[in-house]
Amino acid sequence: MHGASWSIGIRIFEGVGKGAMRIDVVTLFPELIENCLRSGVVGRAQERGLLAVRTWNPRDFATDSHRTVDDRPCGGGPGMVMMIGPLQAALERAQDGDGPVRTVYLSPQGVRLTQAKVAQFARGPRLVLLCGRYEGVDERLLAHAVDEEVSIGDYVLSGGELAAAVLIDAIGRLQDGALNDAQSAEQDSFSDGLLDCPHYTRPVRGALGDVPPVLLSGDHAAIRRWRRKQALGRTWLRRPDLLARTELDAESRRLLDEFRREHEAARDQTEAGTRPD
Ligand code: SAM
Repeated sequence: MHGASWSIGIRIFEGVGKGAMRIDVVTLFPELIENCLRSGVVGRAQERGLLAVRTWNPRDFATDSHRTVDDRPCGGGPGMVMMIGPLQAALERAQDGDGPVRTVYLSPQGVRLTQAKVAQFARGPRLVLLCGRYEGVDERLLAHAVDEEVSIGDYVLSGGELAAAVLIDAIGRLQDGALNDAQSAEQDSFSDGLLDCPHYTRPVRGALGDVPPVLLSGDHAAIRRWRRKQALGRTWLRRPDLLARTELDAESRRLLDEFRREHEAARDQTEAGTRPD
């Protein structure tokens, strides 16, 4: 059968509005993609018609009775390589349709995924994601049919499906209307080049400590400053590489100085307390 399956059924796709972002995924394991994206924010984005995910299985495009999609590597060596024929046919069907399409191969050899890259993908055009398995995909198909390669980190997965699901999740939550509070994406880590500030909820007092009093003060300006200062401080402590790439305004520089001074004073005090007399 040369068909596609819809991530949560044809019924949902029919309900998709014109503005929905469409992502087609070419994969030997469509159920992995579908199961990953059924719940939470991204499941809801699909239900709301903001995102349509469609999967295409190269096995459905194989031409022999065994539905073969892989073969031994030329030159010998371990593992198998995904053949051009069925993959190319599946890709062509996935790329078919209105408007420009960007085809991305999920690969450990690709450009490392960042929030900036996710935001760029979320603005369109339509995406086709190619998931590899085994040793990977015949290089000639990549050169012919793929616009770019994206990696989700410097480690090797057994297939591209989880990487594709990571990318779709990150894109899905940026679609207008996917998050109940649009501001939460704007305040997330990386959106302004910094890590997010710490978060607390009730109870405000407990065995594990108290919520910082400023968060209970009702003083919105003070709360905003405190959060900014914590975000700057955390980024300085945990990801100085991010901070080095971020341009800070005068207020942010002052807040970061304050954080550093307080952090160093707390560290000196701890060291003095643990020093033998
Ligand atoms: N032989 C390949 C290499 O060393 O570059 C690894 C192949 S891997 C076992 C099988 C598939 O998993 C790849 O074709 C790719 O689609 C996917 N994959 C593995 N690691 C990945 C990563 N870090 N990011 C994105 N996709 C990955």
